[in-house]
Amino acid sequence: MKAILLGAGALVVSTALTAVPAVSQDAGFVGISMPTQSSARWISDGQSMVEQFEAAGYRTDLQYAEDDIPNQLAQIENMIVRGVDALVIASIDGTTLTSALEDAAANGIKVIAYDRLIRGSEHVDYYATFDNFQVGVQQGQSLIDGLDLANNEGPFNLEVFGGSPDDNNAYFFYDGAMSVLQPLIDDGTFVIRSGQTGMDTVGTLRWDGSVAQARMDNLLSAHYTEDRVDAVLSPYDGLSIGIISSLRGVGYGSDDMPMPIVSGQDAEVPSVKAIVAGDQYSTIFKDTRELARVTVGMVAALLGGGEPEINDTETYDNGVKVVPSYLLYPVLVTADNWEQVLVGSGYYTADQIVD
Ligand code: BGC
Repeated sequence: MKAILLGAGALVVSTALTAVPAVSQDAGFVGISMPTQSSARWISDGQSMVEQFEAAGYRTDLQYAEDDIPNQLAQIENMIVRGVDALVIASIDGTTLTSALEDAAANGIKVIAYDRLIRGSEHVDYYATFDNFQVGVQQGQSLIDGLDLANNEGPFNLEVFGGSPDDNNAYFFYDGAMSVLQPLIDDGTFVIRSGQTGMDTVGTLRWDGSVAQARMDNLLSAHYTEDRVDAVLSPYDGLSIGIISSLRGVGYGSDDMPMPIVSGQDAEVPSVKAIVAGDQYSTIFKDTRELARVTVGMVAALLGGGEPEINDTETYDNGVKVVPSYLLYPVLVTADNWEQVLVGSGYYTADQIVD
């Protein structure tokens, strides 16, 4: 319970405000620019940041650009005009923010690239993300585990999907996955019947699930009328949903035609449900609360004149500079550990996943 002093000494006792932390000073104003609300993970990212920044005494302006690049630019310019002290940006297209960031720098505003690297600008102070290469390694390894390659020789038919080519992360996911899959493609354990590989060919613009679904439809009708597909590398749950519904459309998911092993990312509720139901094999949990915590810490250090904590100074070259980074560790989730990882950590309640 909190006692608030109002006007001429009237003491009001409020129970409604107990969740609001006691903050005496205004630590600063932070603009948070997120890409889209079409994926639950970005909603969690935004909520966690607002909560944690406000608990630490900052004011926030959270905006979602709904995957529209000019919209994101306008929102960032508007934050600059409104006098933010720091910008936290998860970019839609990592290469399109250069002019806005020049304005930010001219106004002494600190810039954190959030989850996705901002490319082509020197005005990116720090980068908070997950170990994106490791995400891909875990996705690729999950296909190997799901097919139980230790006990089954194959060959197995594989198709691969990539993320959005304008998102730097997509290349890290793809390269990480291929680092474990390529040797098995080379030795014939995996066969890609379509022959389609490489981000130029298998990338999925704006991470759009309907684009992935349409491509899977084409792959199935062109290459899998006689053969079955055994595994599909999918870098994101939203694409996995499209891929799985394409597969279901031609009869996969029945007793005589089981679903292939399909990977994913973000542990979004519909996909965790699909894992429990046996339609999707794996996803990757990236705890957005932790990413928010790292980011709030970076901003607090920067605005307080300190040095943000980093653990990587080599990996993320944005074309102009290597951006000092803090990388969090992703966690592979399957039917075996979803409850322990996702419910055990308090990220979800069990009844969000199972009835
Ligand atoms: C993020 C992933 C997410 C994808 C689609 C990437 O930049 O790192 O977590 O699945 O965007 O939103």
